[in-house]
Amino acid sequence: MILLDGKSLSQKIKHDIKYQVDSLKSNGKRPPHLVAILIGENPASQTYVTAKKKSCEEIGFDSTVIKFPVTISQNKLINEIEKINLDDEIDGLIVQLPLPNHIDPSIVISTICYKKDVDGFHPINLGNMMLQQPCYFPATPMGIMSLIENYNIETNGKNCLIIGRSNIVGTPLSVLLSRNSKYANCTVTLAHSRTKDINLLTKKADIIVMALGIPKFLKNDMIKDSVVIIDVGINRIKSDKSKSGWTLVGDVDFQSVKDKCSYITPVPGGVGPMTIISLLRNTLLSYKRVIYK
Ligand code: NAD
Repeated sequence: MILLDGKSLSQKIKHDIKYQVDSLKSNGKRPPHLVAILIGENPASQTYVTAKKKSCEEIGFDSTVIKFPVTISQNKLINEIEKINLDDEIDGLIVQLPLPNHIDPSIVISTICYKKDVDGFHPINLGNMMLQQPCYFPATPMGIMSLIENYNIETNGKNCLIIGRSNIVGTPLSVLLSRNSKYANCTVTLAHSRTKDINLLTKKADIIVMALGIPKFLKNDMIKDSVVIIDVGINRIKSDKSKSGWTLVGDVDFQSVKDKCSYITPVPGGVGPMTIISLLRNTLLSYKRVIYK
């Protein structure tokens, strides 16, 4: 089994971006600037935003985290986003999900200027992705595609099963993996909570992407030999072995499948760091006006 090491690949990409940012700065130019809006006190959201800010700092990007209380109104949030849209010195804007129940995520995402939507969630970016036009890819699917390409994984004509149909992972990834291009051309099955007999699907799949958010769901007896496994899940479970009393596990029972699969992403250290680096790549593209002039 070969580990798909997202941590080390993301480090390599970070070095490359840092080199470009250093050269911008030494030519007297401002660095790219990413703004993250964080609402409320959700511990997972706080952890993700902190990790994104840290990565920005490591590569020399400017980064700003704007925090709002959970009680912020939708109108106030929209006004704040509109102000950021107009600021020429901000290249990327992300709003950390999930949002409080009284705020409609689709309205918020559509308010972000699509040219600064480095998460790739805006309808214009998702539409352009469907049509194979230039756009920002959603960060997690983009990170997964980079891993597949970097490890030169054969995808042509393979049966790929994606479990989980969210707008940020499963659905866009199903589009990218079924495209007519190298490191795609899969026959994709998109499974979800209403899918029947999921074991029959997992047993037939050459590539399985787990993005459902159920700890250790995929086990040894559900897969065939030499399957490629991409584990997107990040689940916090109780543990006596760590000081904090909890640990992170994926949607795959790693110990149970590790000797049967050909490739697998670890959790942590697989898809997570690739998601963050993809966000930074999109921010650099926005800064350079590569996708949208
Ligand atoms: P989500 O939480 O919005 O939705 C879960 C999906 O799983 C739904 O489409 C649902 O139909 C499906 N599902 C639920 N139970 C199922 C079952 N028993 N069988 C089959 N399908 C089932 O999805 P999400 O936001 O994509 O998150 C999924 C997981 O991925 C979570 O653990 C999340 O934390 C993680 N995640 C990780 C990253 C990363 O960078 N590694 C990024 C995004 C999400």
